[in-house]
Amino acid sequence: MVSNQALALKDGGQVWNHRLEDPDKVVILARQDRRQWKSLWGGTTPGSMNTPRTLIIGLDGATFTLIEPLIQAGYLPTLARLMSQGIHGYMRTWPNMNSEAGWTSLVTGYNSGQHGIYHLAIRTQHDYTWRLASAADRKKDPFWCLLSAAGQRVGIINVPLSYPADPVNGFMLSGMHTPDIHSPGFAHPPDLLDDLRRQGIDYIIGVLRLADLCRRAPQRALQAAQHLVDVRSRTILYLMKTRPWDVLMAVFAVTDILQHFFWPDKDVSVENDVWTPMRSIYQQIDSFLSEALEIIDENTTVLVVSDHGFGPAYFGKECLSHLFARLGLLRYRQDGPQSKSRWLKNLLPYGRKVVPYWLRSPLKQVLPRLYGRALREVEFPSVDWSHTQVFVRRCGEQIYINLDGREAEGIVPSKEYAPLRERVRDILLNLTDPTTGHHVVRAVHWREDLYHGPYAGQAADMLVEWDYDVLRDSLCYRTAETSIIVQSPKRFDRDRRVAGLHRPQGIFIAYGPHIKRGTTVANVSIYDIAPTILYLQGHSIPGDMDGKVLANIFTDERLRHYPS
Ligand SMILES: [Zn+2]
Repeated sequence: MVSNQALALKDGGQVWNHRLEDPDKVVILARQDRRQWKSLWGGTTPGSMNTPRTLIIGLDGATFTLIEPLIQAGYLPTLARLMSQGIHGYMRTWPNMNSEAGWTSLVTGYNSGQHGIYHLAIRTQHDYTWRLASAADRKKDPFWCLLSAAGQRVGIINVPLSYPADPVNGFMLSGMHTPDIHSPGFAHPPDLLDDLRRQGIDYIIGVLRLADLCRRAPQRALQAAQHLVDVRSRTILYLMKTRPWDVLMAVFAVTDILQHFFWPDKDVSVENDVWTPMRSIYQQIDSFLSEALEIIDENTTVLVVSDHGFGPAYFGKECLSHLFARLGLLRYRQDGPQSKSRWLKNLLPYGRKVVPYWLRSPLKQVLPRLYGRALREVEFPSVDWSHTQVFVRRCGEQIYINLDGREAEGIVPSKEYAPLRERVRDILLNLTDPTTGHHVVRAVHWREDLYHGPYAGQAADMLVEWDYDVLRDSLCYRTAETSIIVQSPKRFDRDRRVAGLHRPQGIFIAYGPHIKRGTTVANVSIYDIAPTILYLQGHSIPGDMDGKVLANIFTDERLRHYPS
């Protein structure tokens, strides 16, 4: 792993290295040690005035759907400046529509079949159970490991699913899904927290607690979110000023959490009270960006990105299991809600109500099998596997065939796999919203068309691309012989306060000396960010990366000097 190379570097070991020497040629330095590297650069260290630098700010779930009206009303002057003096566009994140797969794809440049992360829950056995993923399950190196091994200084703050932190050439604080900030491996170097404390910064990750507050005491959530942004901003600005870095990436996860619970009605003016939480948080982040722009030098490129988009919450896609049950493709156990596994099904939602947020991660680590079984009952409640051909994860996008010889209780013979997928695809493409009659599925994809790599076998057999402009809370399936309408089920853990859910279109904004000004860019994929960062830093791009360098965001002059 490259992490080891980074360690070797710290110990004075040898690394492969290439850097840009002057504007007209690229010098490949093979197996230079750090001392040689320094002498070539006249003794300067990375992060000094002449080296290219990149600042990446991640806003989890951020969307132009909220940003644009806030800009028009004058609330986000810094984002407005970055967009008007740089380049921006939607970023395609599907099928990575959750934070864990999304950020992992964004920082590695690979699809889940290559890096192995599809979700926070990871499927290692075909027994319908799951376990929690961590960065140790990530099978491809993020850009910071590659740059670090090449002698560049990196600073990484709060990227989701980055625990344990990599021993980079620079500093790193792991993000969401860190068991605890006092866990070994949270910070690199380990004394980073002490340094922050000496500056009066009492660092927290805090997103689980915030989500908890949004459910239990929403009136206190905004204040808690503002505190989180304040701590995160002060940490980033302090480390930006005091530690050398060539590339610094920091993520604010608070945008995602607040949007889940305080998604404002699009037809209401941004001045209205329903906009207050989102307006306030985006404004606070905008002020942070303004301060960050004061610190950077003229050689720094700024990227602002999100891992997925957002929109109002509709639950029609959660009806798929019920539809498959009505069509005889899935069967529920006869004992239904009275079943003896009912307690398992209720364990997670009930646990969220009674177990303090700080105890949940440790409990999941201590009782992984119980957690996996409870998750199975939430994802696939009361499924009778011996009579089920097709099953769906709760999010309604990932559909599995209960294949004989692969799944623990599989019943579909391999020769029926292809015709069954075709049949399910036909059903999905037929689905409409019962009120409008519009088709609610844009496309159904086979997994082999979306994923490739050694971990592609962990993907669902088919993935549904829903039409979010049309999808609401129920589905209609109608043929000459039958007409079925299914409604979104009322679930024990359904917190009706959920107002917003993920969407496939994230944001991409780039600004800097080599970036085109005042224009938009199309066809940006979440896989393109890591190779584009490597290009900006003069590092070679691994040939098997799924993403490409976003050549059309750069000025002609930059491309002439440094072909992508
Ligand atoms: Zn989310």
